[in-house]
Amino acid sequence: MKTSPIEIFEQKRPVIISGPCSAESEEQVLETCAAITKSGKVDILRAGIWKPRTRPNSFEGMGAPALKWLKQAGKDAGLPVAVEVANASHVDEALKQEIDVLWVGARTTVNPFSVQEIADALKGTDATVMVKNPVHADIELWTGALERLHGAGITRLGLIHRGFAQYGNSVYRNDPKWQLPIEMKRRFPDIPLVCDPSHICGKRDLLHAVAQQALDMDFDGLMLESHIDPSIAMSDKDQQVTPADLEVIIDNLVVRRPTISDEDLSQKLSMLRSQIDLIDDDLIKLLGERMKVAEEIGLVKREKGITILQTNRWEEIIEKASSNGMLQGLSKTFMIRYLNAIHQESIEHQNDVMNQSELKER
Ligand code: PEP
Ligand code: MN
Repeated sequence: MKTSPIEIFEQKRPVIISGPCSAESEEQVLETCAAITKSGKVDILRAGIWKPRTRPNSFEGMGAPALKWLKQAGKDAGLPVAVEVANASHVDEALKQEIDVLWVGARTTVNPFSVQEIADALKGTDATVMVKNPVHADIELWTGALERLHGAGITRLGLIHRGFAQYGNSVYRNDPKWQLPIEMKRRFPDIPLVCDPSHICGKRDLLHAVAQQALDMDFDGLMLESHIDPSIAMSDKDQQVTPADLEVIIDNLVVRRPTISDEDLSQKLSMLRSQIDLIDDDLIKLLGERMKVAEEIGLVKREKGITILQTNRWEEIIEKASSNGMLQGLSKTFMIRYLNAIHQESIEHQNDVMNQSELKER
């Protein structure tokens, strides 16, 4: 996919996008933006104008009149401004007000009809468009949204990682699933990748850690929601930070370089990497051996006519292996994920053996 660079991303690392979740009033937008830009650490101002709310009867944004407030805040600070668009009329309104950057929200990226409608409305313009990941972890949908926009002639594209919806309790509002943005970076190395810790965390105290993690994974920018007084925010109250807190977060970020010119360091890294490669080879060999043993167990089960899934045995493995893993410094979450993946593969091998089909190519 041939894209064009977004100028600000060529000049600065990380690019900081900040501003309120929602534009609530002219004063709130102007005051918030003036306060966060004073120190010169913010590069693009954001505000939600049309708010896609999960449940009805919540604040749904101030609509088109709020575009002027944000544009004014941008002029005051001498910075570009960004808003979310979810349909063709949002695109028309935003372009009429000369909004510099548009982004497609997570709830829109999931819907190919909406993304196509936005792409069609953008035809013939040279808009800069950033695409948030879809709410669920579907990398092809995320890719498809980029392709639809690119197909409409939009070449200044960006990606925003805001985490993925999940059922049940977790420390995060949206599970980061870092492997997905990393895969997008592999697929589209020239497209800037921004992390949105605000929507991943859902609460202020985790923001710094997630922002740092993103920088350590070589993300190009951060989108952080800020509000002059988060306690009275009309949306996403718990995750917005005051201008002062935003500055603290930014000041405490360590920006590391993606590559090194230092010879010694580079040699040391390459030695450690070959060690990792050797360990990975061993792990893969061991996993292959484990599956062979699982297949033998499958044969025994077939002979004796017993089921593949033996719940007690599985619980015993989880118990033993996860406490072993923890002794090795591995997290319980990782151990459970790892064991589930192994168990799934093992069941498939046993299923093949028990039902005598050839091992499928995986
Ligand atoms: C937002 O940025 O305020 C927003 C609605 O985000 P998302 O699309 O990631 O939910
Ligand atoms: Mn928000």
